[in-house]
Parts: sequence; C-alpha cells; structure tokens
Amino acid sequence: MNIEKLVRKNIRALKPYSSARDEFTGFAEIYLDANENPFPTAYNRYPDPLQRELKTAISSIKNIHPARIFLGNGSDEPIDLLIRSFCEPHSDAILITPPTYGMYKVSADINAVNVQEVPLTATFQLEVEKILNAIDHTTKLIFLCSPNNPSGNLLNTDDILKIVGTFNGIVVVDEAYIDFTDFPGFLQELNQYPNLVILQTLSKAWGLAGLRLGMCFASTEIIDVLNKIKYPYNINASTQTLVLAKLKDETEIKKNVALILQQRELLRKQLTTIQWVKNIFPSDANFLLVRVADAKGVYTGMMKKGIILRDRSQVVLCENCLRITVGTPEENQVLIENMKSLP
Ligand SMILES: *Cc1c(COP(=O)(O)O)cnc(C)c1O
Repeated sequence: MNIEKLVRKNIRALKPYSSARDEFTGFAEIYLDANENPFPTAYNRYPDPLQRELKTAISSIKNIHPARIFLGNGSDEPIDLLIRSFCEPHSDAILITPPTYGMYKVSADINAVNVQEVPLTATFQLEVEKILNAIDHTTKLIFLCSPNNPSGNLLNTDDILKIVGTFNGIVVVDEAYIDFTDFPGFLQELNQYPNLVILQTLSKAWGLAGLRLGMCFASTEIIDVLNKIKYPYNINASTQTLVLAKLKDETEIKKNVALILQQRELLRKQLTTIQWVKNIFPSDANFLLVRVADAKGVYTGMMKKGIILRDRSQVVLCENCLRITVGTPEENQVLIENMKSLP
C-alpha cells in the first residue's frame, strides 16, 4: 500500500514551516536564533518541536520506535490532522460507526469533509459487511473506537483486522480507554499494517487530562505527514516537562486503574438493585452506559443533587441511556445513595 498516494495533493507538495529549533537541533552555549527573551523565566525558551525526550520515554513504555510516535495537544489534534492530511474538503469522506466519540464527525464537519455512518449492532459491535459495502472512492479514513465511547465495550479483534486488511485507506483505532482492559490493543499490529493508526491519550487512565497530551502511533510515512502539517510548537514546555515526570509513576497509575475497575464492578452491582435501572452494558472502560426508564428525569434529578452525569439518550442506539464515569469510592457511594433516593 502506497501511503503517500493517499495524502492530499497540496499536503504532499507542501513545504512545511521550519522553526529555529528545527534548523539547529544540537546543544550550544548561546542561542540567538529564535528571538526569545534571554532572561530566564523557566519558560523563556521555545520547547522541542518534536518532543524527543518525551517520545523516548513513551517509546520505552509502549515498546515502539520514537519515529512511529506523534504527540498532539490531546487526541483531538491527531484526529483533526489526519482528516486534513487525507481528506479533500467538499469531496472526500470519513466513515464512522455510531454511537461513537463525537469529535470524528465534528472535525470532519469543520473541514467540510463528508461523514459516512454505519451504526454498530445492538450489542455495539461492527457491521463489517455493511462497512465494506459503504466504502466508496471518496472514503479515505475509517474511525473505530475500542473500547468504544459511549458504550464502553471492546470491538471484536477479527472485525477490526478484517477492515484494516481490506480497506485501501487509513483505519484509525482510538484506544483512549485501552489501559482499563487486559486486552493489549493493536500496537503490535502496526508492523503488519502500514494503513493502521492508533490513538491513545494520557487524559483517562494516566489522570493527566489537564496537560493535554494525545499519542498517535503509526507507520513512519503517516507520522511524517502529521509532523509536516502540525503547529511548529504544538506541545508546550510545561506539558513536556510535567508529563516526563509523571511517566515515571506507572506503578501508581496501575494501582489507580485497579481501584477504578474494582469500583466499576461495585457500581454495577449496586445499580442492578435500583428498580428503574433497565440495563447496564458490559464495560471495558472507566464508565458504565446505563439504560434507565427516564434518562432525562434521572439526569435532571441528579443534577439538582449536584451530581453531573452524561445524558446520551439522544444518541443512536442509546435511547434512555446515561453514561456514568467511575469516581472515587466516596463519590460512587454518594452517587448510589442519591440515585436510590430518586423515585
Ligand atoms: C476522551 C476521549 C478522547 C480525548 O482524548 P484527549 O486526549 O483528551 O483529547 C479521545 N477519544 C475518545 C474515544 C475519548 O473518549
């Protein structure tokens, strides 16, 4: 598969901006090349545009070569950049499988890129044949989310591999919640599939949503395109420094994840005792999708008690469903007590 041929013509032809820190990457005594303020404030220097130290650390955690890593201002940045790299506005399309993460469609809409939709099955799995039939010459990117938001479940591995292996375009697997499952995800498949892109984030299991760091793993051809069109200094210096320090806490993170999973199952058990809870969907993530008798009523009732849930009842296949994030043990107890007090 020729990745370069999939890239938009203007992006292929683009001569990217070259920053001072791109043009000199070594170490020097005196830097007078970037019009920075010379007096130290801790942040007077531009950050590394390619985040080399951070990528080296992530490379050893994920066991993947740094040249196959792109870092973004949240996963939302690579989602946008992938659409801008591969989809011609007003003619090309992405394919999504609702109910799924909302940003794929929003990013496509912003970029005037069409959105083809093939809904999941009632058990939130892929309709592989329908997806393969829906693909046409305008389809450039397929976004799959596993574990899926808002349903919480992993998509079947064979289904994903069938699509990656068949489609002559880019398949993005969004693994924002992968650290909450024992399933290893698709990182080890990258060698085999040059058209596979994997998104992960530090916003969920790693507890660093406020720092904004999304990770994108793919073939070097794809990573090079993203680097070519990103803002020169897309990850700020404080995020690079703070994340580097936090990556050393992997054991603490794993402890937190284990507690969240234990709490998720406790929540599930307690929710089943509430008479107006109709269904709690299986979850491989840090949230539960719960079908209730009256989602709007529960949402509003809980809001009045100061507890905010996510009302997903307007989303396809999620009629009367609320998405509940697993909180601390104390928060979850307050949640259940307040839910039990609703009529
Ligand atoms: C939360 C979430 C993201 C967003 O991640 P950021 O790195 O915070 O931008 C991406 N994908 C899915 C499916 C999510 O649920």
